[in-house]
Amino acid sequence: MESTQSPIIMWFRRDLRLSDHPALSAAARTGRPILPVFILDDLVHGLGAAPKWRLALGLESFAQSLAQTGSRLILRQGDALTVLQQLIAETGATAVYWSRAYDPDSIARDTQVKAELTRQGIEAISFAGHLLFEPWTVATKTGQPFRVFTPMWRAVQDREVALPDPAPTLNAPTQWPASDDLTLWKLGAQMNRGAAVVAPYVRPGEPAAFEVLHGFLDRMSRYSDHRDRLDKDGTSDLSEYLSLGEIGPRSVWHTVQRAAMTGVQGTDAYLRQLVWREFAYHLMYHTPQLLSGNWRPEWDGFPWNTDVGHPNVTAWQQARTGIPVVDAGLRQMYVTGRMHNRARMIVASYLTKHLMTHWKIGMDWFADCLIDWDPAANAMGWQWVAGSGPDASPFFRIFNPLTQQEKFDPSGTYLRRWIAEGQAEPSATALSYFDAVPRSWGLDPSAAYPPPVVELAAGRAQALAAYEGRKTG
Ligand code: FAD
Repeated sequence: MESTQSPIIMWFRRDLRLSDHPALSAAARTGRPILPVFILDDLVHGLGAAPKWRLALGLESFAQSLAQTGSRLILRQGDALTVLQQLIAETGATAVYWSRAYDPDSIARDTQVKAELTRQGIEAISFAGHLLFEPWTVATKTGQPFRVFTPMWRAVQDREVALPDPAPTLNAPTQWPASDDLTLWKLGAQMNRGAAVVAPYVRPGEPAAFEVLHGFLDRMSRYSDHRDRLDKDGTSDLSEYLSLGEIGPRSVWHTVQRAAMTGVQGTDAYLRQLVWREFAYHLMYHTPQLLSGNWRPEWDGFPWNTDVGHPNVTAWQQARTGIPVVDAGLRQMYVTGRMHNRARMIVASYLTKHLMTHWKIGMDWFADCLIDWDPAANAMGWQWVAGSGPDASPFFRIFNPLTQQEKFDPSGTYLRRWIAEGQAEPSATALSYFDAVPRSWGLDPSAAYPPPVVELAAGRAQALAAYEGRKTG
């Protein structure tokens, strides 16, 4: 029949993989030709500098993976619905499949696309794939969304997770539509000279993601002990792959479960962290204001600084606060595109508490600088540290960066790795921060390390006073 031969447009977004891909597998099962497409629309344009640059690397790698299977990645730019309609007109496609996204802007776009295509008689189907558990399938005993992590973890930890599909065979269309040239999109332009510094730390793509996962299994048994240590290679480094969908969460879940069955220790602690990612999505889906305002409205009147041009904010952004472990964390981010989770908590705490600066300023900065940027995890992380989020760390529990450093970097390895000033022979990694950041910052590794912009005791006292004032005010 004619209709069985009409192509299916597979609209890729943050799911740049072939395996563990329910939408792609469903499309392949029909036996119809498949047209893989990525659209540079306003949402993609709106990404921060580092995530956009990392996306380009992911697209390049994914296009290669598709080419190895005899397929192609068609690149187009413009309004998503308009582009899809043009492709439908050009190719005679009668269906568009995609993996669901859960942030409010994507939901709004996808809802409109689905309604309009359906109205035109096009089969528009969205699939699961980005998460282990769709946000509406997990609820408390009273049917409410979870607001606290541990009960959610208990509710899902023994749930059946569907086995990931292997990469399917993709039928190619008889004629390929034209594609944009990825290099002409210039997705890395805003990274400026930072791109050359971060590039050696990045291995994009699905095959690399699986290598990283399998490499981590050897370190899994030490995960509980090492995951908080700034000086150890204790975590999986999978976040950028999960964020771009270069590996599916079900693949990670089952690989780890299989490792547990062969006697690998520490797997529960790891799966628990993976469920923190689910919790972030659960919160974002059910309470999208997580991304834009205090999750707890009682924080709305808190006297946080909201001036992004404040000198203390500039010092924090430039990793020149004078608090070594804070600056080390931020410098790790500029050089590698990622930051250790413990460091993320320390730098976020210093910004929102000692510097009394609104968490949104920090969240936006991370959204510009992290190659593993994820809307849900980033917003939840910031609100958790600031105290304004669900299940948050109480505001009055103010991290002392010095104590944190002594506990999680006892020999100063992390500091030496990232702080050049004052060292007789600075490490190459510490020096590379000066090559990663904009020249306009005017930084020089031979200059003296700055004094604290806000002393720890004074910053703590000021934050606690504001907190007490809020309670009584
Ligand atoms: P592992 O420890 O190996 O954990 C495995 C996976 O579990 C991670 O890849 C991640 O997908 C998930 N995970 C682990 N911890 C968390 C967590 N606290 N919240 C949500 N998911 C988690 N993570 C991002 O992926 N993108 C972000 O933009 C992001 N921003 C953050 C901002 C702040 C202020 C904080 C405190 C945390 C943020 N996180 C973010 C969470 C966490 O720091 C990273 O997921 C983690 O450091 C990634 O390293 P890994 O893959 O080696 O983690």
